Amino acid sequence: MSVFNADLIGKKPLLISGPCSAETEAQVHETVQQLSKTKKVDFIRAGIWKPRTRPGMFEGVGTPGLTWLKDAGVAAEIPVMVEVATSKHVEESLKHNIDAIWIGARTTVNPFSVQEIADALRGTAIPVFIKNPINPDIDLWAGAVERVEKAGVASLALIHRGFSAYGNTKYRNPPMWHLAIEMKRRFPILPMICDPSHICGNRELLQYVAQKSIDLDYNGLMIESHIDPENAWSDAKQQVTPENYLKLINSLTWRTEEITKQEVISALMQLRGQIDELDDELLILLSDRMKIADKIGIYKKENNITILQTARWNEIRQRALDKMLQLGLSKEFIIRYFDAVHIESIHHQTKIMNDG
Ligand code: PEP
Ligand code: MN
Repeated sequence: MSVFNADLIGKKPLLISGPCSAETEAQVHETVQQLSKTKKVDFIRAGIWKPRTRPGMFEGVGTPGLTWLKDAGVAAEIPVMVEVATSKHVEESLKHNIDAIWIGARTTVNPFSVQEIADALRGTAIPVFIKNPINPDIDLWAGAVERVEKAGVASLALIHRGFSAYGNTKYRNPPMWHLAIEMKRRFPILPMICDPSHICGNRELLQYVAQKSIDLDYNGLMIESHIDPENAWSDAKQQVTPENYLKLINSLTWRTEEITKQEVISALMQLRGQIDELDDELLILLSDRMKIADKIGIYKKENNITILQTARWNEIRQRALDKMLQLGLSKEFIIRYFDAVHIESIHHQTKIMNDG
């Protein structure tokens, strides 16, 4: 069962901003000062040790950056947070009275590293934010939460920063929203923060992704900001100036999951009733569809025909794709839906073929 100390990180919306990396003392102080003026920052973030994909890139300023960040935070009266990847990072952060830490995407993937961090956190009260692992594996994310919880950390939150995917997409790391939604379902009391910066990898999409996370009832945002984004030493393409950070935050529409107006409650209840009825009908239709697949399986078995008939499978998909515009359904949905139906159908037929 998740434990959660609401006093520290339970604010909604919880707003986190700051540079991808601490670069110089002056840069850290200036960024914090400018962010403080926006009055829309609950935590300042800065990377001190930077996990970079390839060597030779800027790998962070290391421990001196902790002093710069903490001093700047104290001056502005805003708590500060850094990323930790090893037990040494945890110890250094605690020694410098850093107010919260996060576990980065490249660390969450590794249970050895997460366990090492969890062990270093035992007996401490520092809040911990856990980013999703870089690969789309929800159990790794859940496992990291469980390791940190088991170490007795009482103040925990999740950060959704997108997942790596093969090939070009409009995002740097596609959000794969359904994975974060499933984490919200599994850990309902943990705040879920969206990190649009690392999802987007550019400034143009930040607003869209931030708004979408609010519409999905996320608890807050982590957005990278820099006094001179173009010349940032890491993640230059996605950072915004504190001024543009404020514009972005002010452009968002905050929504609540709670429904208070009676007419809205009744309207939603009626529409949800219709959805439940349709879902029941759809399930019966799917079950009927599988019964027909079973019959086909019997014919295939008797005649020694393979289960997979690629031409027929293409035909099924194409028939649906031809109708998608008229039905107002997206191509992604049609493909995912028919993939699921097809897998289930193969499953049924495999059972029939191999029974007895
Ligand atoms: C970061 O927050 O700057 C960072 C490195 O994040 P992630 O672990 O999400 O890549
Ligand atoms: Mn970054």
